[in-house]
Amino acid sequence: MKKHNFSAGPCILPQEVFLKASEAVMDFNGSGLSLIEVSHRSKDFVEVMEKARNLALELLGLEGKGYKALFLQGGASLEFLMVAYNLLETKAGYLNTGTWSSKALKEARLFGEVIEVGSSKDENFNYIPKGYTIPNGLDYLHLTSNNTIFGTQLKKFPKVDIPLVCDMSSDIFSRQLDFSQFDLIYAGAQKNMGPAGTTLVVVKEDILGKVSREIPSMLDYKVHISKDSMFNTPAVFAVYTSMLTLEWLKNLGGIAAIEEINEKKAQLLYSEIDLNPVFEGFAKKEDRSNMNATFNLTDSKLKDTFDALWKEAGINGINGHRSVGGYRASMYNALPLESVGVLVDVMSEMERKG
Ligand code: PMP
Repeated sequence: MKKHNFSAGPCILPQEVFLKASEAVMDFNGSGLSLIEVSHRSKDFVEVMEKARNLALELLGLEGKGYKALFLQGGASLEFLMVAYNLLETKAGYLNTGTWSSKALKEARLFGEVIEVGSSKDENFNYIPKGYTIPNGLDYLHLTSNNTIFGTQLKKFPKVDIPLVCDMSSDIFSRQLDFSQFDLIYAGAQKNMGPAGTTLVVVKEDILGKVSREIPSMLDYKVHISKDSMFNTPAVFAVYTSMLTLEWLKNLGGIAAIEEINEKKAQLLYSEIDLNPVFEGFAKKEDRSNMNATFNLTDSKLKDTFDALWKEAGINGINGHRSVGGYRASMYNALPLESVGVLVDVMSEMERKG
């Protein structure tokens, strides 16, 4: 039986994507060859890469606006340092909203001065800092749109006249935004896009080439752009599967359509968290993430009962991250509304038992 998979990442993808990807592993486009045994320079794979890059720009509404899409390797974690390598000449600003922002900030410090413009560390990152000031003279400002571990999400983005960089690993393609306010977006594939192994980078070309240091080829966005994201062997399976997910999203009606479904899922779960006395939310209400909902039992003695109930209901992956404890239900694009319904039913049953 298919589980209700609330895993934070790698995570659920559409069933039809799993099916098509597995078919291509056996026989790619009727070629008699597997997707993972053909040359990445073959016409069929070059088309896949092109399609994936174009779909990413199309879905984000960034076609023809000076942006390039790349499918790189090394995870979002490599982008923490690639961003700084390519953009940090003297100083950069970072908004510290959680574990991943902190890691990005730490890597950037290897390349120049880093100013933490705001931080919510004082309350274990359960809110998004607001009202912070952005100093003059920054090379860029770095934000994390969704904090996967703590379950917070930026609802508003500061207006700045310097390049705006955003780690969107855990909410890319999940909600409508004016993506043209960002100059560089990066996201590990393994949440809303595909399997682990590739990272989408969308970058406005005119922000590149401004630092004085020499950049090793593999870490240089310009090199990857000049080779159409094929400077070296790309993660063929991860790129193909990401392309399938982007196609699925386009056929569904794009980001506008999925946003509506994501809103319904989040509302259903958060209203249960708020109305059911057995549970309490972790993140501040106004900053709650529509992707990752973090919550706790109000009485930890109920843990064994709750854990048995959700496992019995076929639910997977709702244990919280060790730095927060409690529970985290990740509701990425491919998670059906019905799965959230199953979780909410289990939570209501807990109320009857509690
Ligand atoms: N940023 C965010 C917001 C994340 O959620 C994660 C992974 N969970 C990362 C960065 C790191 O990604 P990767 O494991 O692909 O390096």
